[in-house]
Amino acid sequence: MASIRELHEQLIKKERSAVEITQEALDRIQVLEPKLHSFLHVTAQQALEQARAVDAKIAAGEKIGLLAGIPIGIKDNMCTKGVPTTCASRILENFVPPYESTVTQKLADAGAVMVGKTNLDEFAMGGSTENSAYQTTANPWDLSRVPGGSSGGSAAAVAAEECVVSLGSDTGGSIRQPASFCGVVGLKPTYGLVSRYGLVAFASSLDQIGPFGRSVEDTAILLNAIAGYDPKDSTSLKVEIPDYAASLKPDLKARSKLRIGIIKETFGEGLDSVVEQAVTKAIDQLQNLGAEIHIISCPNFRYGVPSYYIIAPSEASANLARYDGVKYGYRAPDAENLLSMYTRTRSTGFGAEVKRRIMIGTYALSAGYYDAYYLKAQKVRTLIKQDFEKAFKQVDVLACPTVPTTAFKAGEKNTDPLSMYLLDLMTIPANLAGLPGISVPCGFDNNNLPIGLQLIGKVLREDQLIQVAYAYEQSTTWHLRQPPF
Ligand code: GLN
Repeated sequence: MASIRELHEQLIKKERSAVEITQEALDRIQVLEPKLHSFLHVTAQQALEQARAVDAKIAAGEKIGLLAGIPIGIKDNMCTKGVPTTCASRILENFVPPYESTVTQKLADAGAVMVGKTNLDEFAMGGSTENSAYQTTANPWDLSRVPGGSSGGSAAAVAAEECVVSLGSDTGGSIRQPASFCGVVGLKPTYGLVSRYGLVAFASSLDQIGPFGRSVEDTAILLNAIAGYDPKDSTSLKVEIPDYAASLKPDLKARSKLRIGIIKETFGEGLDSVVEQAVTKAIDQLQNLGAEIHIISCPNFRYGVPSYYIIAPSEASANLARYDGVKYGYRAPDAENLLSMYTRTRSTGFGAEVKRRIMIGTYALSAGYYDAYYLKAQKVRTLIKQDFEKAFKQVDVLACPTVPTTAFKAGEKNTDPLSMYLLDLMTIPANLAGLPGISVPCGFDNNNLPIGLQLIGKVLREDQLIQVAYAYEQSTTWHLRQPPF
């Protein structure tokens, strides 16, 4: 499948119709889904209707935007009016939102064609999609392996060309980690850049929606469409939005040298040697492109995982209190009284990982423990933020691996939550500090599994991050490789 710009050219030159492009995506979904399981719901009819509307505009000689007629997948934790939104949980099995999230509304307004809702770890808690109550998504590079998570469905769908681009959400790495495992580009924007109205909340001080694409440019085009102030989201930032896809250059040569910092602490114990080699080579390449390389120390990074796994479950325990069988969603049958209805609903409606986090979070927030756990974790969060502030006095962009390993086998880690949590080591700090981060393909291991380079930028400097990622991508061929599946 072609890039957004190529498809746009084909559409306006009337070489292909939006219906043909959409049908091609739907056909691929039909062929691949029995093995891939990226989608929880395919919205074929609605997609074809949207495509027809784009074709009608073209026929009438109206101007269309870049995303018009482009097939897109949406993670199933973003509310879509009239289309099931399950968060891959039993508790929302029959939930059909009566309203539309801001991001999906913006995409619909731009003429993008939603082909379906993608699989995830239940309520976005996890790193493999194995916590989905419905299905585990396979990695298109090796079907016996996980695509990463929690936005694994969105990453796999783009890698396998079931859609051109997709949306995910990233609370502790859930866009960047699956992008790395699936060999695609994934960007977590600055906290507040993209509206979260209609995103089902997991950990409110960390959650951000962001784009996946097969190239940096496609990812940037999608970011253009979703970024911007939204009065419906009180955490949304009122800022000027640049055109992220405009004036991208194939090198980093500028009057004042771009400074890139290697985060020293991310190169140590636990890092796979193939990942280390690939990322080191990528940094050399950035130097060749004109960047100045510095070694930076972020000594508090190692406390990211422990503080995140207090803060995220605490916020989740509060956010998930609303699923009580009363207001909406699943209600357990045959309860004797109100209390047993609550307990049965929640104990059968939620999966094991979600319940584990609700328990940890409730414990950490309870009187007597609050100061020792939650407050302490928030203080550590400040230290991590200060590490970044110091680093960004010396450099413009930080570089490190996205994940310490490549994709693991399904079933390998899902009985050991701690080993799964540890994989988030390099992605969590950006969430704790609210900073933008991107993962770009930077190599393959001996099993032909993709490796990701992570770049972390200053607050609201997505433009700079995208420029660095683009220059790197254009000087390599990693993004051109296609999964065997
Ligand atoms: N893997 C992390 C977790 O399980 C991140 C999840 C996310 O970013 N949504 O919480």
